[in-house]
Amino acid sequence: MHSHILAEYHKFEYDNKVYILNVETMQAFRVNRALSEEIDKIQNGTITCDNTTNARLLAALDQLGLLLRDQALENEQESLPCSLPVKHVSLNVAQTCNLSCIYCYGINGEYGQKGYMKAETARKAVDWLIRQGMDAKELIITFFGGEPLLNFPVVKEVVQYARERAQESQKRIHFSITTNGTLLTGAVNSFLNENRFSVVISFDGDLEMQNSNRPFKGSKRSHEITKKRVEQFLKSRGGKRNRTCYNYCLQRRLKTRSRFPCSDGVQEG
Ligand code: SF4
Repeated sequence: MHSHILAEYHKFEYDNKVYILNVETMQAFRVNRALSEEIDKIQNGTITCDNTTNARLLAALDQLGLLLRDQALENEQESLPCSLPVKHVSLNVAQTCNLSCIYCYGINGEYGQKGYMKAETARKAVDWLIRQGMDAKELIITFFGGEPLLNFPVVKEVVQYARERAQESQKRIHFSITTNGTLLTGAVNSFLNENRFSVVISFDGDLEMQNSNRPFKGSKRSHEITKKRVEQFLKSRGGKRNRTCYNYCLQRRLKTRSRFPCSDGVQEG
């Protein structure tokens, strides 16, 4: 008898159909309602395999990529000493959001506990990265949320502090941010460009998809303002789209590509 941990998932409905989003792989699967209810009933996120375990349910979980490694192996691995350098941290600087996407696995970016990271906490994370980076010369800090630009003052402070610390330690530091694009205004764009940020913009593209999937809180449509801000941001990069990615969700790819045509530097997520 052995057991599997269930990977983190988020269930949502769209157009009266049920989807399971695998949070680890960010893949969404359409499932029938009966299966989604069976998955919800799994106690404590752990499924034990013995003669009585439902083989069909196990196979379905496997297909959705939700079956993680054996619990015993997991415990064993946790106790292994790790001497590899840590080169990349993600800072959830804002656990809140101005959008309310229908498929948000973070409960509107709040992950159950709304709040903003304090500058002091962020500085400690930078110190930790520098230490754990050991002899690595290139380090990366990603700003994430919620919507990280809601905490722009702390983003700015972290960048300055990280640059100073990296210089003292003779390392190079790179920055990236994942944003919903609604707060990409002039001063923010200048800052991101000056600091050579890689920018991932989550935008579902066409009017119908963006407004239905990614409304502002209170159901206000977000397409017009997001499109305008994304266009301003791209213009601020002088038409060069390197270090800029679009993170599409459930969108009609061809339509979106025709609005923001890809060039060599653009990746699509
Ligand atoms: S923009 Fe991101 S964090 Fe905000 S509600 Fe949408 S998916 Fe969640």
